[in-house]
Amino acid sequence: MSTPRIWMDGHLVDASAAHTSLLAPALHYGLGVFEGIRSYATPRGPAIFRLEAHMARMARGAEALGMPFNAETCAQACIDTLADSGFGDAYLRPLAFYGQGTLGLDVDRHTTRLMVAALPWQNHLGEAAARGVRAHRSAMQRNTAQAIPPLKLCGGYVNSVLAKRQATLAGFDEALFVDERGFAVEATGENVFLVKDGRVTAVEHPDALPGITRATVMELTGAESRPVTLQELLEADEVFLTGTSAEITPLIALDAHTWRAGAITLDLRRRYLTTVRGAVDLSESWLTRLEPVTA
Ligand code: PMP
Repeated sequence: MSTPRIWMDGHLVDASAAHTSLLAPALHYGLGVFEGIRSYATPRGPAIFRLEAHMARMARGAEALGMPFNAETCAQACIDTLADSGFGDAYLRPLAFYGQGTLGLDVDRHTTRLMVAALPWQNHLGEAAARGVRAHRSAMQRNTAQAIPPLKLCGGYVNSVLAKRQATLAGFDEALFVDERGFAVEATGENVFLVKDGRVTAVEHPDALPGITRATVMELTGAESRPVTLQELLEADEVFLTGTSAEITPLIALDAHTWRAGAITLDLRRRYLTTVRGAVDLSESWLTRLEPVTA
């Protein structure tokens, strides 16, 4: 298959024809907001999972940057780009960014551009997603919410990339952020849950991204959400990570400490994977189908 086309400022164009200036403020200062969204092949055609929630979060990021953003336009662009790609299982990447302006730090007169790409299905954790993730406790602190709001702002991901790089150089798959007071925050691209005595708990932290998979898992399980110390995490029976890309992935090690990929995590993973493909009633309201359902 040829490279899928990219939606850029209202049009689907060949990827080779989608350009941006080298002076784009986004390139110099990380001034953009993006989303990572999945679509899944279902028996009734491709469906995008929780598109509205992703658009709402993206809108909050755009607002933080003072950027005009129309969630409906972006949602339709995601739908059109997926339809054009012909993919069923895909990863959708909308990005709104300051594409033109000065190199000053006042963004009021910058031009905003919007793009959407559809990529073949992928899990950024690679092989680790299948066997479970081995994480390194990051020596770095997560961006605090007071420094950069926990939204999908491009520049904020420098923090994730640096922590992940330290972890992979040390031979691990992922990094886990722990704050100065000893509370677990999140991983570089996933939220964290624990299971203790059969109860599922979502790790809550003001500096963590409000994950959409996290919210989905809370609805599926009725899990409580509360702050969790690293010590409590180490004493848990099972720990797992959630994210659009990672879906539900067991965390099987943090440095020398290990957990088992337990039955509750694996069962929940199965439930999640049937939910996203529209196999349970609850999920229909979370799916945006490409074509109107006629049955
Ligand atoms: N935390 C961070 C830092 C992330 O980048 C992601 C991925 N978007 C998540 C958590 C999980 O969020 P979601 O479930 O909405 O994909």
